[in-house]
Amino acid sequence: MLEYRFEHTEPLTWRVILAVRADAKQRKEQIWVGTELEVERALRGKEDAACLALTQPLGVFWCEVGQTPAERWNKAFAALCRALAARRAAERKKQEENAAAILSQLAEEPAANAAAWYAAIQIWEMYLRCCRGRDRQKAMVAFRQFAELMILPFGEYTSEMLQWRREKPVTLVWNDRADAKLEVWYPQGKIPFECAVTDGSLRPALIYYRQRILDAGLLMRQCSHCGKIFFAGDARSTLCGERCRKASKKAARQDFEERNKGLDCEQAYAREYMFWYNRISKLKKNSAPPEQIGRAKAALKQFSSEALKQKQLVKQGDMTDAKFVAWMLGQEKMILAICGKV
Ligand SMILES: [Zn+2]
Repeated sequence: MLEYRFEHTEPLTWRVILAVRADAKQRKEQIWVGTELEVERALRGKEDAACLALTQPLGVFWCEVGQTPAERWNKAFAALCRALAARRAAERKKQEENAAAILSQLAEEPAANAAAWYAAIQIWEMYLRCCRGRDRQKAMVAFRQFAELMILPFGEYTSEMLQWRREKPVTLVWNDRADAKLEVWYPQGKIPFECAVTDGSLRPALIYYRQRILDAGLLMRQCSHCGKIFFAGDARSTLCGERCRKASKKAARQDFEERNKGLDCEQAYAREYMFWYNRISKLKKNSAPPEQIGRAKAALKQFSSEALKQKQLVKQGDMTDAKFVAWMLGQEKMILAICGKV
């Protein structure tokens, strides 16, 4: 956890930065937040309580920015504006405490959020610097501009990011230089990897991050079981990991058993035939390639001819209902593999 207090004190001497490394090969990302000095130490692997260092699955950084509610940022920002304008120390203190409570909550709940920590510290430090300004009006304008730029990517994905999620080509939106600056720290000394570093807007860091992932040929997917964003080498992946694969298989089995409860082999077969048939109908409705529809039809033909043979065995008493049903369940993966999970 990062040791930083939102208190009325001297501003930091060193600039505060966020460094991000997208490790597409390992599907991991690393993020550091702290002053430049502390982040450099942390990059070299030195433990430092004054620096936030997170290693997490690829995609978390992007999702956290998108899911952090914008209204709460605006509330903290408005409280600090009131603190800057306050004429009485007690009023200033009250507004500061109000903002500090919101900012620490944004940074730490439900878990340490690197982007939120970064923006919260930057806003607080700028506030401290503005408190020192003699010209209150000028300080207020500077603070407002800075905080607005810092908050911009939160709450909703910037349009570049939204298109990424929809798997559409990205057109960059217009932005000025303050919203486009990014440093790249190449491998140096004992640090064998490249990372991007920002001390201003988060947006260029997000765009850089996105580009590293695209360069690695990864696609953004949403897990059909848990809803989490993950990255995969191809569009057919619909489950984020082994845990969801197992859970989804179990759910499919329960669903199957539920559907076939109390049915005799004839009804179970009819039910299962419809399961296949509906998936093929859906392919047609979605104008799937004829080749895919052809494959699905051929698979259904093969399934039904085999099922008819097995059903005969059940009727002759050479096979149990349960075994027949279990066999049909096993076959579902064939049609699902052709159609994808729908
Ligand atoms: Zn999942």
